[in-house]
Amino acid sequence: MGGWGSGLKDSVFGYLYNDRDLDVSNGLCVGHNDPDLWFAGEVDRDGEVWSNARPEKSRLKLEIDKAVSALSVCSNCPAKVNCLELGMRGPQRYFGIYGGTMPGERLVMLGKSMRKATLANKLAFARKVRNAMRERGISG
Ligand code: SF4
Repeated sequence: MGGWGSGLKDSVFGYLYNDRDLDVSNGLCVGHNDPDLWFAGEVDRDGEVWSNARPEKSRLKLEIDKAVSALSVCSNCPAKVNCLELGMRGPQRYFGIYGGTMPGERLVMLGKSMRKATLANKLAFARKVRNAMRERGISG
C-alpha cells in the first residue's frame, strides 16, 4: 500500500480506507512521536470524540497548539500533494489533518455538507488555528 504517516496510520479511518495509488510514505509525520497532533480538535488521547462539545478554554488552547504543531510539520512535507488528495476522499474528508488542511477547510473546498453544528464547529476550530498561526508568524 501507499505509506501512511504515523498520524494517518493510527487513525481508525486509515484502516477503513487504504488508498494504494497515493503514496505518502515519505511524509514528515511518519514516525512522529505524537500522531494525535494530526487529529487535533477531533479526538482526545483516550479516543473520546469532542468536536461537538464546547471545550473549556484551556482544552481549546491545547487543541489549537496541537493543530499548529501538525500543520507546521505538514508545511514542508514532500508528500503534501498526495496527502491532500487522500484527505479529499472517503471518510478522511471529515476527520484529521491531511496535506496541511483541516477537515473544516476541506469540506468547504469540496462543498460538502454535514450536520450544521458539526461543520460550524470544524470551521470555527480551523479559523482559530489559522489565526493562531498568523499571530505566531507560522506559515502552513
Ligand atoms: S502533509 Fe502532513 S499529514 Fe500528510 S504526510 Fe505530510 S506531514 Fe503527514
